[in-house]
Amino acid sequence: MKLFIDIGGTHLRSEIYTAEMIHREKLSSQEHDLADYIKQCLARYPDISFIGISFAGQVYQGEILSAPNIRITTKNIKEYFESCYPLRLEIDNDLNCAVMAEASYFQEANIAALYVGTGLGAAVIDQGRLIRGFHNQAFELGHIPYKEAPFLCGCGKNNCVELFASGGGLEKRMRYNHKEGKPDLKKLKDQGDNSVELFEDALLHAAATLVSLANPRILVLGGGIVEQNPYLIQLLKQKIGTKAFPSALEGLTITGTALKNAGMDGAKLLERREDG
Ligand SMILES: [Zn+2]
Repeated sequence: MKLFIDIGGTHLRSEIYTAEMIHREKLSSQEHDLADYIKQCLARYPDISFIGISFAGQVYQGEILSAPNIRITTKNIKEYFESCYPLRLEIDNDLNCAVMAEASYFQEANIAALYVGTGLGAAVIDQGRLIRGFHNQAFELGHIPYKEAPFLCGCGKNNCVELFASGGGLEKRMRYNHKEGKPDLKKLKDQGDNSVELFEDALLHAAATLVSLANPRILVLGGGIVEQNPYLIQLLKQKIGTKAFPSALEGLTITGTALKNAGMDGAKLLERREDG
Protein backbone atom coordinates (compact mmCIF):
# COMPACT_ATOMS: atom_id res chain seq x y z
CA MET A 1 0.00 0.00 0.00
CA LYS A 2 1.03 3.58 -0.65
CA LEU A 3 0.11 6.93 0.86
CA PHE A 4 0.48 10.18 -1.06
CA ILE A 5 -0.04 13.58 0.57
CA ASP A 6 -0.27 17.07 -0.87
CA ILE A 7 -0.18 19.64 1.92
CA GLY A 8 -0.57 23.39 1.41
CA GLY A 9 -1.50 26.39 3.53
CA THR A 10 -5.22 25.57 3.36
CA HIS A 11 -5.71 21.87 2.61
CA LEU A 12 -4.16 18.52 3.31
CA ARG A 13 -5.14 16.10 0.54
CA SER A 14 -4.29 12.42 0.67
CA GLU A 15 -4.64 9.34 -1.50
CA ILE A 16 -4.18 5.86 -0.07
CA TYR A 17 -3.66 3.17 -2.70
CA THR A 18 -4.73 -0.27 -1.51
CA ALA A 19 -4.90 -3.38 -3.69
CA GLU A 20 -8.63 -2.81 -4.29
CA MET A 21 -9.21 0.93 -4.24
CA ILE A 22 -7.96 4.50 -3.84
CA HIS A 23 -9.12 6.18 -0.64
CA ARG A 24 -9.08 10.00 -0.90
CA GLU A 25 -9.33 12.57 1.89
CA LYS A 26 -9.32 16.38 2.08
CA LEU A 27 -8.79 18.05 5.45
CA SER A 28 -7.86 21.46 6.81
CA SER A 29 -4.07 21.76 7.09
CA GLN A 30 -4.55 24.33 9.87
CA GLU A 31 -6.37 21.81 12.06
CA HIS A 32 -4.25 18.72 11.40
CA ASP A 33 -0.62 18.10 12.21
CA LEU A 34 1.14 16.27 9.36
CA ALA A 35 2.90 13.64 11.52
CA ASP A 36 -0.29 12.94 13.55
CA TYR A 37 -2.24 12.50 10.33
CA ILE A 38 0.34 10.01 8.96
CA LYS A 39 0.23 8.05 12.24
CA GLN A 40 -3.57 7.81 11.95
CA CYS A 41 -3.26 6.54 8.36
CA LEU A 42 -0.69 3.94 9.45
CA ALA A 43 -2.99 2.79 12.28
CA ARG A 44 -5.81 2.31 9.75
CA TYR A 45 -3.58 0.86 7.00
CA PRO A 46 -0.53 -0.81 8.61
CA ASP A 47 0.58 -2.22 5.22
CA ILE A 48 1.61 1.19 3.85
CA SER A 49 5.18 0.75 2.60
CA PHE A 50 5.72 4.04 0.78
CA ILE A 51 4.75 7.63 1.64
CA GLY A 52 5.26 10.48 -0.85
CA ILE A 53 4.63 14.07 0.30
CA SER A 54 4.38 17.32 -1.64
CA PHE A 55 4.95 20.06 0.94
CA ALA A 56 4.31 23.81 0.71
CA GLY A 57 7.47 24.89 2.50
CA GLN A 58 11.22 24.41 2.49
CA VAL A 59 12.44 20.83 2.75
CA TYR A 60 15.98 19.46 2.67
CA GLN A 61 16.86 15.76 2.61
CA GLY A 62 13.67 14.62 4.32
CA GLU A 63 13.69 17.37 6.93
CA ILE A 64 11.25 20.29 7.08
CA LEU A 65 13.27 23.54 7.30
CA SER A 66 10.39 26.00 7.41
CA ALA A 67 6.63 25.92 7.07
CA PRO A 68 5.15 29.41 7.32
CA ASN A 69 1.52 28.29 6.85
CA ILE A 70 1.43 24.70 8.12
CA ARG A 71 1.23 23.16 11.59
CA ILE A 72 4.27 20.95 12.08
CA THR A 73 5.46 19.21 15.25
CA THR A 74 7.87 16.69 13.67
CA LYS A 75 10.47 18.32 11.43
CA ASN A 76 12.76 15.35 10.72
CA ILE A 77 9.82 13.54 9.21
CA LYS A 78 11.67 11.06 6.97
CA GLU A 79 14.00 9.88 9.74
CA TYR A 80 11.15 9.64 12.26
CA PHE A 81 8.81 7.47 10.19
CA GLU A 82 11.53 5.34 8.59
CA SER A 83 12.94 4.49 12.03
CA CYS A 84 9.53 3.79 13.67
CA TYR A 85 7.80 1.92 10.80
CA PRO A 86 8.91 -0.53 8.08
CA LEU A 87 8.43 1.96 5.23
CA ARG A 88 10.13 4.50 2.98
CA LEU A 89 9.15 8.18 3.04
CA GLU A 90 10.06 10.88 0.52
CA ILE A 91 9.09 14.54 0.91
CA ASP A 92 9.84 17.49 -1.36
CA ASN A 93 8.81 21.08 -1.87
CA ASP A 94 5.43 21.41 -3.64
CA LEU A 95 6.84 23.34 -6.58
CA ASN A 96 9.60 20.76 -7.09
CA CYS A 97 6.86 18.11 -7.11
CA ALA A 98 4.73 20.18 -9.51
CA VAL A 99 7.53 20.79 -12.03
CA MET A 100 8.38 17.05 -12.04
CA ALA A 101 4.74 16.28 -12.86
CA GLU A 102 4.67 19.01 -15.54
CA ALA A 103 7.90 17.72 -17.12
CA SER A 104 6.40 14.25 -17.20
CA TYR A 105 3.14 15.54 -18.72
CA PHE A 106 4.84 17.63 -21.42
CA GLN A 107 7.69 15.09 -21.89
CA GLU A 108 10.01 18.11 -21.69
CA ALA A 109 13.57 18.26 -20.32
CA ASN A 110 13.74 22.09 -20.11
CA ILE A 111 10.75 23.42 -18.24
CA ALA A 112 9.97 26.04 -15.60
CA ALA A 113 6.81 26.08 -13.47
CA LEU A 114 5.40 29.29 -12.02
CA TYR A 115 2.48 28.80 -9.63
CA VAL A 116 0.45 31.58 -8.08
CA GLY A 117 -1.69 30.61 -5.12
CA THR A 118 -1.37 31.69 -1.50
CA GLY A 119 2.31 32.24 -2.35
CA LEU A 120 4.27 32.69 -5.57
CA GLY A 121 6.47 29.68 -6.30
CA ALA A 122 8.71 28.44 -9.06
CA ALA A 123 10.87 25.44 -9.90
CA VAL A 124 13.03 24.53 -12.87
CA ILE A 125 14.06 21.33 -14.63
CA ASP A 126 17.10 21.89 -16.82
CA GLN A 127 18.28 19.21 -19.25
CA GLY A 128 16.21 16.68 -17.35
CA ARG A 129 17.53 17.57 -13.88
CA LEU A 130 15.70 19.44 -11.17
CA ILE A 131 17.72 22.51 -10.11
CA ARG A 132 17.95 22.19 -6.31
CA GLY A 133 20.64 24.54 -4.99
CA PHE A 134 22.76 23.91 -1.87
CA HIS A 135 19.80 23.44 0.51
CA ASN A 136 17.08 22.57 -2.03
CA GLN A 137 15.92 26.19 -2.21
CA ALA A 138 16.85 27.19 -5.76
CA PHE A 139 14.36 29.39 -7.62
CA GLU A 140 12.51 30.65 -4.53
CA LEU A 141 11.17 33.23 -6.94
CA GLY A 142 8.53 34.63 -4.58
CA HIS A 143 11.23 36.14 -2.37
CA ILE A 144 13.37 37.95 -4.95
CA PRO A 145 13.71 41.68 -4.20
CA TYR A 146 11.13 43.76 -6.05
CA LYS A 147 9.58 46.85 -4.40
CA GLU A 148 9.03 47.84 -0.81
CA ALA A 149 5.57 47.04 0.53
CA PRO A 150 4.03 48.60 3.65
CA PHE A 151 3.78 45.13 5.27
CA LEU A 152 6.06 42.14 5.81
CA CYS A 153 6.45 38.83 4.02
CA GLY A 154 6.43 35.55 6.00
CA CYS A 155 10.22 35.42 5.40
CA GLY A 156 10.70 38.68 7.32
CA LYS A 157 11.46 41.01 4.38
CA ASN A 158 9.24 43.78 3.01
CA ASN A 159 10.33 43.80 -0.63
CA CYS A 160 9.49 40.29 -1.91
CA VAL A 161 7.71 40.04 -5.25
CA GLU A 162 5.28 37.62 -3.54
CA LEU A 163 3.92 40.55 -1.50
CA PHE A 164 2.55 41.93 -4.79
CA ALA A 165 1.84 38.85 -6.94
CA SER A 166 0.17 36.22 -4.76
CA GLY A 167 -3.13 35.52 -3.03
CA GLY A 168 -1.47 36.02 0.35
CA GLY A 169 0.03 39.34 -0.77
CA LEU A 170 -3.36 40.52 -2.04
CA GLU A 171 -4.94 39.60 1.29
CA LYS A 172 -2.29 41.59 3.17
CA ARG A 173 -2.88 44.59 0.92
CA MET A 174 -6.65 44.36 1.43
CA ARG A 175 -6.18 44.28 5.20
CA TYR A 176 -3.80 47.23 4.93
CA ASN A 177 -6.46 49.11 2.91
CA HIS A 178 -9.14 48.11 5.49
CA LYS A 179 -10.99 45.93 2.98
CA GLU A 180 -12.93 42.82 3.98
CA GLY A 181 -13.30 39.45 2.28
CA LYS A 182 -11.24 37.17 0.09
CA PRO A 183 -9.03 38.62 -2.65
CA ASP A 184 -10.76 38.51 -6.03
CA LEU A 185 -8.85 40.12 -8.92
CA LYS A 186 -11.97 40.74 -11.03
CA LYS A 187 -13.89 42.33 -8.16
CA LEU A 188 -10.91 44.50 -7.18
CA LYS A 189 -10.48 45.59 -10.79
CA ASP A 190 -14.16 46.56 -11.02
CA GLN A 191 -13.68 48.65 -7.88
CA GLY A 192 -10.77 50.46 -9.56
CA ASP A 193 -8.40 49.10 -6.89
CA ASN A 194 -4.78 49.62 -8.00
CA SER A 195 -3.62 46.39 -6.31
CA VAL A 196 -4.62 44.52 -9.53
CA GLU A 197 -2.26 46.67 -11.59
CA LEU A 198 0.48 46.09 -9.01
CA PHE A 199 -0.28 42.35 -9.09
CA GLU A 200 -0.05 42.11 -12.89
CA ASP A 201 3.19 44.09 -13.06
CA ALA A 202 4.81 42.01 -10.30
CA LEU A 203 3.74 38.74 -11.94
CA LEU A 204 5.18 39.92 -15.23
CA HIS A 205 8.42 40.85 -13.44
CA ALA A 206 8.59 37.41 -11.80
CA ALA A 207 7.87 35.51 -15.04
CA ALA A 208 10.37 37.59 -17.05
CA THR A 209 13.04 37.05 -14.38
CA LEU A 210 12.40 33.29 -14.34
CA VAL A 211 12.58 32.98 -18.12
CA SER A 212 15.70 35.20 -18.35
CA LEU A 213 17.52 33.19 -15.66
CA ALA A 214 16.42 29.64 -16.47
CA ASN A 215 15.92 29.77 -20.27
CA PRO A 216 13.22 27.04 -20.32
CA ARG A 217 11.50 25.77 -23.48
CA ILE A 218 8.15 25.69 -21.66
CA LEU A 219 6.95 28.06 -18.96
CA VAL A 220 3.90 26.45 -17.36
CA LEU A 221 1.58 28.49 -15.16
CA GLY A 222 -0.66 27.12 -12.46
CA GLY A 223 -2.03 27.63 -8.96
CA GLY A 224 -5.40 28.81 -7.69
CA ILE A 225 -5.07 32.46 -8.75
CA VAL A 226 -4.11 31.52 -12.33
CA GLU A 227 -6.95 28.97 -12.50
CA GLN A 228 -9.46 31.61 -11.39
CA ASN A 229 -7.97 34.24 -13.73
CA PRO A 230 -6.88 32.52 -16.96
CA TYR A 231 -6.50 35.96 -18.59
CA LEU A 232 -3.16 36.18 -16.73
CA ILE A 233 -1.66 33.56 -19.10
CA GLN A 234 -2.66 35.69 -22.09
CA LEU A 235 -1.29 38.80 -20.38
CA LEU A 236 2.11 37.17 -19.83
CA LYS A 237 2.24 35.90 -23.42
CA GLN A 238 1.55 39.41 -24.73
CA LYS A 239 3.79 41.36 -22.39
CA ILE A 240 6.73 39.18 -21.35
CA GLY A 241 8.72 40.62 -24.27
CA THR A 242 8.71 44.02 -22.57
CA LYS A 243 10.73 42.69 -19.60
CA ALA A 244 12.53 39.41 -20.40
CA PHE A 245 15.93 38.89 -22.00
CA PRO A 246 14.94 38.79 -25.70
CA SER A 247 16.98 35.76 -26.77
CA ALA A 248 15.59 33.71 -23.84
CA LEU A 249 12.16 34.12 -25.49
CA GLU A 250 13.19 32.37 -28.72
CA GLY A 251 11.31 29.09 -28.97
CA LEU A 252 9.61 29.62 -25.59
CA THR A 253 6.06 28.34 -25.09
CA ILE A 254 3.96 29.84 -22.30
CA THR A 255 0.99 27.73 -21.29
CA GLY A 256 -1.39 26.96 -18.44
CA THR A 257 -1.19 23.66 -16.59
CA ALA A 258 -3.36 20.78 -17.78
CA LEU A 259 -2.99 18.95 -14.46
CA LYS A 260 -5.69 19.11 -11.78
CA ASN A 261 -3.20 18.70 -8.91
CA ALA A 262 0.41 18.75 -10.09
CA GLY A 263 1.70 18.64 -6.49
CA MET A 264 -0.08 15.35 -5.82
CA ASP A 265 1.05 13.95 -9.20
CA GLY A 266 4.61 14.93 -8.28
CA ALA A 267 4.31 13.26 -4.85
CA LYS A 268 3.63 10.01 -6.73
CA LEU A 269 6.80 10.50 -8.78
CA LEU A 270 8.91 10.74 -5.58
CA GLU A 271 8.84 6.95 -5.34
CA ARG A 272 11.02 6.74 -8.45
CA ARG A 273 13.51 9.23 -7.08
CA GLU A 274 16.89 8.06 -5.89
CA ASP A 275 18.84 11.31 -5.50
CA GLY A 276 17.26 12.13 -2.13
ZN1 LIG B 1 9.67 36.85 1.35
